[in-house]
Amino acid sequence: MPSGLIIKALSGFYYVLPDGEESMSSIQCRARGIFKNRGESPLVGDRVKYELTDNGDGSVNELYPRSTELVRPPIANVDLAVLVFAVQEPALNLQLLDKFLVHTESSGLNTIICLTKQDLNEQAPVKVISVEDEGTASILDETELPQTVDEVVRLYETIGYQVVVTSAKLGIGIETVMDRLKGCISVFAGQSGVGKSSLLNAMVPGLHLETNQISMKLGRGKHTTRHVELIRIPNGGLVADTPGFSSLDFMQVKEAEDLSSSFREFENYSGQCKFRGCLHLHEPGCKVIEAKEQGLVAASRYKHYLHFLGEIKERKRRY
Ligand code: GDP
Ligand code: ZN
Repeated sequence: MPSGLIIKALSGFYYVLPDGEESMSSIQCRARGIFKNRGESPLVGDRVKYELTDNGDGSVNELYPRSTELVRPPIANVDLAVLVFAVQEPALNLQLLDKFLVHTESSGLNTIICLTKQDLNEQAPVKVISVEDEGTASILDETELPQTVDEVVRLYETIGYQVVVTSAKLGIGIETVMDRLKGCISVFAGQSGVGKSSLLNAMVPGLHLETNQISMKLGRGKHTTRHVELIRIPNGGLVADTPGFSSLDFMQVKEAEDLSSSFREFENYSGQCKFRGCLHLHEPGCKVIEAKEQGLVAASRYKHYLHFLGEIKERKRRY
């Protein structure tokens, strides 16, 4: 039985891209009743076995095991999260970036950071902030935050993340992002207005995702049943046409102890903390605090960790 990949789900149909197929044509399939009986349903991103039926359509008969399963958007086998942040407009919010990183790390996703609108960086100095909600004051004072885009890049590269600086307007960095997407199923995540759609449009000739927040909102009102589709990137790679992780509530971080392992660079030190289960708050012999004091862990990262720890504890207290 031939194998393929579901690239779209709409109105009870699954669109399967046959393995090894370079053309754009996918096969419209129904799912076999067997899935309903088992209480499972195919997802976009699922690798499947399918069969052609007499009318030229097909039927999905079997799912291969999934490596990952995202809820928002509902996609199986996502390999890579691309966290998109503008250097300006909106201001670069490192608290939000660190929160996204907790999400991708705790979901076991590979992650790259993409800083967009580099052309604006050349016009005016960047303002890096750390706020929980729009309009509130930064929780870190300026000296604790990187001051330039280069410093932001260095901070996250030192931790081990690939950071790509791009401009859809000037065509900067697009090829580098495309190279990374090869062979992956990816999801772009980031606030609205940071330039996710513009970036995808720059990569895929003929793609015309709407690129301004207001018309996006109107669009959503018109089509109440939003479907998910994987967009094919030239030279390989599939990207969800819907941004990921719209709600960042730490629900998948069950225990306070688990937060620390989502801060990659803490792992270099946390194993040597004096106490097992050290939360790196103010315990004696804490190696993470020591590393922070020596400048080996960035102040912004450590403070965001404390802030998120507070959120998780608060949630546990309430439920
Ligand atoms: P999304 O909501 O993340 O998909 O963001 P959009 O792609 O819709 O972009 C939001 C706004 O930023 C639009 O007005 C774009 O024209 C603008 N924009 C996107 N990329 C760039 C860029 O590289 N440079 C500049 N100056 N503006 C950009
Ligand atoms: Zn510690």
